[in-house]
Amino acid sequence: MMAKTEGFIIRTTDYGESNKIVTLYTKEFGKIGLMARGAKKPKNPLSAVSHVLFYGLCLFSKGRGLGTLYQAETLNAFRTVREDIEKMGYAALVLELTDRLTEERQPSESIYHLLQAILLLMDKGKDPAVLAALFAIKMMPQAGVAPELTHCVHCGQKRDNYAFSIMNGGFLCQNCIHTDAYAIHLSPVVQKLLPLIQSVPMERVGRINLKAKTIGEIESIIYAYYEQNAGIKLRSRHFLEQLSKFRTE
Ligand SMILES: [Zn+2]
Repeated sequence: MMAKTEGFIIRTTDYGESNKIVTLYTKEFGKIGLMARGAKKPKNPLSAVSHVLFYGLCLFSKGRGLGTLYQAETLNAFRTVREDIEKMGYAALVLELTDRLTEERQPSESIYHLLQAILLLMDKGKDPAVLAALFAIKMMPQAGVAPELTHCVHCGQKRDNYAFSIMNGGFLCQNCIHTDAYAIHLSPVVQKLLPLIQSVPMERVGRINLKAKTIGEIESIIYAYYEQNAGIKLRSRHFLEQLSKFRTE
């Protein structure tokens, strides 16, 4: 059966001497694997489109197993993102999270729209670190590990000063902080931001501007959280850490 749909290539794998398998995240069918025959040959029309961060319309056949990609037409080349190694690193992180947190053939309009909004805002020059962090927080329910950010995860009380417990999965009040020796102290701004990012729609959080220190604080929580609670260690995160070391030295 032939199908045409809009999607993002979130991963590619070389297959044999001349082919690639591309993993496409689509609006209609969710995540699907497609064989791009000849995509490793420079003159093949598929070679120009079979790369990570491709966004466009794809014509393909789909059956029970791996489908075949026939044609792809770019909707946005994400030039601003591609020209900047740091932006590209954050875009790779967003794509890797999408791949790790979704199952094949389970469409989700909300994930699709979130992915699309984040990458388009990144291309418009919005802070890529902020956008990647927003995406990571909003995808936590998808990993089945949404943190408790409205009250203390231990005693259930609403308070006005919380730490964050990676082990217990959410906010921990000052009375309960002793239950986790590794509880992370949070600045007041981060205590307000985390529940806001989790609950507010993307159209509104996309406008958030954060200081480097604030985003650093949020990043140190969310990626440790993914690692401990969902068993997800992101390769692209490692790349970004290396990049930041290189920049400060
Ligand atoms: Zn408590």
